[in-house]
Amino acid sequence: GWFAKPSNTQNHTDSSHYLKDFLEEMKADKIREHLRKFTQLPHLAGTEQNLKYAEQIMKEWQMFGIDSVEMVPYDVLLSYPNESQPNYISIVDHLGNEVFNTSLAEPVPQGYEDISNIVPPYSAFSAKGQPEGDLVYVNYGRTEDFSQLQREMGINVTGKIVIVRYGKIFRGNKVKNAVLAGAKGIIMFSDPADYWADGIQPYPDGWNLPGRGVQRGNVLNLNGAGDPLTPGYPAKEYTYRFSPEDGVGLPKIPVHPIGFHDAFRLLNNMGGEIPPNNWKGALNVSYRIGPGFTDEFKSQKVRMNIHTNNQVTRIYNVIGKIRGAQEPDRYVILGGHRDAWVFGGIDPMSGAAVVHETVRSAGRLLSTGWRPRRTIIFASWDAEEFGLLGSTEWAEDNARLLQERAVAYINADSAIEGMYTLRVDCVSLIFHLYGSILVFRRISKLGSGSDFEAYFIRLGIASGRARYTKNTKTERYSSYPVYHSVYETFEIVEKFYDPSFKRLQAVAQVRGALIFLLADSQLLPLDVNEYADSLRKYAQSIAQLAQKNLVEMETYKVSFDSLFSAVENFTVAARDFHERLQTLNKADPLQLRIMNDQLMYLERAFIDPLGLPGRPFYRHVIFAPSSHNKYAGESFPGIYDALFDIQNSADPAKAWEEVKRQISIAAFTVHAAAMTLTPPA
Ligand code: GLU
Ligand code: ASP
Ligand code: CA
Ligand code: ZN
Ligand code: ZN
Repeated sequence: GWFAKPSNTQNHTDSSHYLKDFLEEMKADKIREHLRKFTQLPHLAGTEQNLKYAEQIMKEWQMFGIDSVEMVPYDVLLSYPNESQPNYISIVDHLGNEVFNTSLAEPVPQGYEDISNIVPPYSAFSAKGQPEGDLVYVNYGRTEDFSQLQREMGINVTGKIVIVRYGKIFRGNKVKNAVLAGAKGIIMFSDPADYWADGIQPYPDGWNLPGRGVQRGNVLNLNGAGDPLTPGYPAKEYTYRFSPEDGVGLPKIPVHPIGFHDAFRLLNNMGGEIPPNNWKGALNVSYRIGPGFTDEFKSQKVRMNIHTNNQVTRIYNVIGKIRGAQEPDRYVILGGHRDAWVFGGIDPMSGAAVVHETVRSAGRLLSTGWRPRRTIIFASWDAEEFGLLGSTEWAEDNARLLQERAVAYINADSAIEGMYTLRVDCVSLIFHLYGSILVFRRISKLGSGSDFEAYFIRLGIASGRARYTKNTKTERYSSYPVYHSVYETFEIVEKFYDPSFKRLQAVAQVRGALIFLLADSQLLPLDVNEYADSLRKYAQSIAQLAQKNLVEMETYKVSFDSLFSAVENFTVAARDFHERLQTLNKADPLQLRIMNDQLMYLERAFIDPLGLPGRPFYRHVIFAPSSHNKYAGESFPGIYDALFDIQNSADPAKAWEEVKRQISIAAFTVHAAAMTLTPPA
């Protein structure tokens, strides 16, 4: 993502009063009503209620007056608990009697007691099974936690059940790490250290996670594949499907989530080594590492009882369009998911309500005679919570069109995760709003874990996201306390997160302004100089990382010169391109189109059709989700992964050859991208 409005190339057309009208039409009270309406009932992907909300959204978008709205179904692999055999974890005594069982459900918040179809907490796509054994506590279950456990503490988890706290990284990475370490089961819990803010009450009196609240979530390692059974192709009726055993990214061991009330019971009697200080959470237990319980309870074991089923199920995206007046074959996409674990008060409906209001406002503007220069596509994605499935299948379905025509993708998942300030993820973003330049200071690179992934990382479409966030910089990936629990209600937003709905309105205006400017500016508001700056920064940082191995770099003749020289080429090409933009005759539609195409296709130029090593659907050479945390973005991921833990490589010569290969791929790609910015002839 790399948006900026080139400062002296503003469009002095009459479109700025339309922008003002468009943003002013988005009302806080309307967003409140949309949110209330779409959070009354649970609407998990694949359920009847989520189809009903899809139909309602389709009908209302039609009434709002956009040009077309359609429902687009796919049949994808989902995962649900077995209704007649509940999932739980037991402590069993030496006779095999269950002396403690974890709870089967979260206490339902007041006012929702009679509501059916609240799915109990579970880890979607867990393997079935009833493994029994000793527990080993592995902190957050990160790569570094498992290395510390194995290398420094000398503890082997083969045949053990690991217990890790939620937070810091995507839960699927924790599960992958546990499988690689040889565990036969994994339990994840929300620790108050990570999901409880001091001085705040538990829901419903405040926004903290109650002791019996649990974070649901999928535990896949899809690496961008989408539906596990149809990687690369849209999951339609005629589509060939892998057998479920061969599905992409499915974990091989049972997985289950619990809250801190139950975690206390499992951790309380654990024995073994005393943990390092940064492994201690905020429960009143020792956080001993195990394996197993203290001598007194040594004969007790832990048993997981998991009966979750995978099932091919129909899902529905809603796709709405506004045809562009001058460049109908150029697409600007605003997409966010609709499916929720339960009510989706924050995730995703705070985002869906914002999209709904954006569509309403766009419809109003159309009725006053406005029509955007380019086509705008609105999407209500399904089955995001099951691995970004709806958005990825639609990207697969439309890949040929999108790679030729998509200008940008703006994501619209949860619009709020805190009460402090706006958070924007993309390289750099500056744009005109009400005639003044708004500069966001909290700008980061995109990671993943939401629906922009296929558009940005697989297809190379410039992407961005914006939401309200909290003040703590360190807890970026641990989310808000009630995330994916039954306590994500309309009321938690109305009472605590945004009583006036002004924060959601601000997010609507930011996302809306982005879409508007991308779709309606004569010249695309994308800044190539910003990209050059970022590339230099990323190149410096990866080279610096490699410098930790100066001796090996000498021995194996590893150099970053080619990459730096490519970045230099890019910088020059970007500067020259920018200069030519200043003298562009905008009255010449062909000249304008030529340069806009160069801007649009720049992001595409970073795509390597062969993909990253072992991750064929992660094809962006500059950005990928971190191999250790899907939520985080890694720059020059090919080089980064080749360098990772290289000090401990069994075959250093081979490992450094791979580093050299990755540097050359990066250098070539940056150079190739630079060429797309030079004058066509
Ligand atoms: N947003 C969902 C989560 O964080 C799904 C993420 C993913 O599968 O990438 O649980
Ligand atoms: N709320 C998460 C995010 O946007 C994604 C999700 O869980 O749906 O990062
Ligand atoms: Ca597919
Ligand atoms: Zn979610
Ligand atoms: Zn979400």
